This record gives sequence, C-alpha cells and structure tokens, in this order.
Amino acid sequence: MELTVLPLTDPKPRVTDESQLAFGRLFSDRMLILEFDRAKGGWHEARIQPYQPFVLDPAAMVLHYAQEIFEGLKAFRRPDGSIALFRPKDNVVRFNRSAHRMCMPEVDVDFFLDAIKELIRLEADWVPNSRGTSLYIRPTMIATEPMLGVRPSDQYLCYVILSPVAAYYKGGLAPVKIWISDHYVRAANGGTGEVKTGGNYAASLYAAREAAEKGYDQVLWLDAKNKQQVEEVGSMNICFIYDGKLVTSPLHGTILDGITRRSILTLAKEAGLEIEERALSVDEIFEGVESGRLTEAFGTGTAVVVSPVGEFTYRDRTVVLGDGKTTGEITRKLYDTLTGIQYGEVPDNHDWIVTI
Ligand SMILES: *Cc1c(COP(=O)(O)O)cnc(C)c1O
Repeated sequence: MELTVLPLTDPKPRVTDESQLAFGRLFSDRMLILEFDRAKGGWHEARIQPYQPFVLDPAAMVLHYAQEIFEGLKAFRRPDGSIALFRPKDNVVRFNRSAHRMCMPEVDVDFFLDAIKELIRLEADWVPNSRGTSLYIRPTMIATEPMLGVRPSDQYLCYVILSPVAAYYKGGLAPVKIWISDHYVRAANGGTGEVKTGGNYAASLYAAREAAEKGYDQVLWLDAKNKQQVEEVGSMNICFIYDGKLVTSPLHGTILDGITRRSILTLAKEAGLEIEERALSVDEIFEGVESGRLTEAFGTGTAVVVSPVGEFTYRDRTVVLGDGKTTGEITRKLYDTLTGIQYGEVPDNHDWIVTI
C-alpha cells in the first residue's frame, strides 16, 4: 500500500504560549487516514490529509454498537531539537490486539508505524518545546458500514490525530484522592477490560461522576466477582509499595496491559525493588497504610506518566498516605527516571526511544 500525502492549504496558527495548552482540545494541521473495505480487498487509500471532520452515515455501526478502539502515545521534544517517540511499536501491537478482540481488521505494524512517523515528521513544529509538554498521538479505528444488524462491520476508518498537550503537573507531582467503588465495576472476567475500547470508558463515567461529586479525583475499580481485589484506577494501572516491594495487579484479562506499567516494572527492578504481580485487597490497603507496611501508591499511564496517591476512601473509611500531599521517594524516583528517558536526560538502555 502506498501512503499519499495531500497538500495542506490552510495551516492553523501555531501555539505561541505553551503554558496555555490544555489536554486534547487543540489538534494539528494534518491527520493520517486508512480505509478498510472487505469488498475492496481490505486496507486501501492510506493518506495524510488536512485535519477535517468526517462525513459518516447515521447508520454507521460504530454509532450504534460501539465497535471502536484507540491508542494513546506521545512524542517528546528533546534538548537537541530532535523528536522522540516512546515505545511506539508496543502501542501498535496493542492496537492490533484490541482490533482482534473487537472483530476489527489488524493493521500492518511496520506500515502503520512508518505512516505515524511520517505524519509527525510533517507536523514536527506542532511538538511543543517546554519540558513536560508533548504531542499526544491518538490512533483510532471505527466501524463505518451503514447497517443496523449486529455483526462486525465490513468497513472501517483507521485514523491518527495529534494534539499538543501541556505538562500534566504544572506545580510538580501532586497526590490524588481515590474513591474505591464498592458497587460499580469496570470489567468482568471474559469481558473487554484488557481492550482499549471506548465502551469501557462510557461504562465508567457514572462512577467517575459520583466520585467527583464527593470530591475525589479518580475511581479505583475492584474485581467484578468478589469486589475485594484491586484492579486499576480510572485510565491508569496502579502500583503499591508494600513491605518495600512493588506490588501491582497481574494482567489476567480485566485490566489494561499498560506500557507505562511495563516500563515502571522494568525500571523498578533495575533500581533493586522486588516486584510482585498480585492483586492487593481493599483490606490490605487499609491495614497496610495503618501499620506502615504500605508506604506509597501511584497510578501509571501515558497521559500522567506517574500519578501519586494521597488518600483512599472505601465506604466510610479513609486512609491517608503520609501527609496526603507529599509524593513518596520511590514514586518520585521512578517518575524522574522515566520522564528523563523520554526527554533525553537519562540514557535509554532499553531501546524504548525511537527518534524522528
Ligand atoms: C491506556 C490505559 C492505561 C494505561 O496504559 P499506558 O499504555 O500506560 O498509557 C491503563 N488503564 C486503562 C483502562 C487504559 O485505557
């Protein structure tokens, strides 16, 4: 398949004040699009074109049955002016795993990666310069066949859009307050918990709104069966420092296999921490904090990198980690190392960085 680059006629004004960037509101000039039609032999019409709205049939299957997947990764500006992607192949491989589970067509990993790199090369001046900022990359696939029957679509649009984003923490790492849901669940065994699909998010909004109304930043989800074991937090995996070890939920199908989680586990091991992939229980969180065995907790995800937890609430019980406002030492060290690798200040010994 050829990648066609269409001319750009009407570039948008560039961001001059990077401190004004928000998350995911502003998009660059161009987008990558691939079309799929089973009747036309599969993928065809790969192109980079000006960013613009789609025309979708109101019967397009994604609008009715949510056959949709997405990814999230970032491009970073390095001190020498080059642009770095962080483990982009992992995202494309995960995109294909999601596609498989949602009965959607897989993309050719190398073609898609090269096309994303070409898009970023063309949009290079949309990668912001200040430390902590980045260009957020959002690959997406939607089912477009106009048909109301319930079956996998025969037509798809796969596209990639780019959004320059601010540093997540403007005033340094800030611990969040977490509400542990004893009623709502995110994913059950055999469901789509390990898939990056919009439906998981739609189903999570109600609990997130309830938590926000109570003054919490995020919802921590428990296992659907017993509502005892920790799964993950909002759109992040979660790690605990428990008895001096890093404890995080295993990948057993209901949580997302986070690339940040993977990277943090590698860095923690190299820093001499023992890793335990097991699900902590709610009781262990409360008893652990109260007895001093649980000293730190943090979420991991591409958007935040690392998000320290200041307190947990379950029903009418709250525990505060430390003073609830200070980021733990291990959390900070892992955050500094990972962001240091991304911004080119710490050597990349794992071939995680792909420069453009
Ligand atoms: C994307 C996502 C994560 C984090 O994955 P990263 O690859 O680290 O960004 C965690 N949980 C859920 C539910 C997600 O959608």
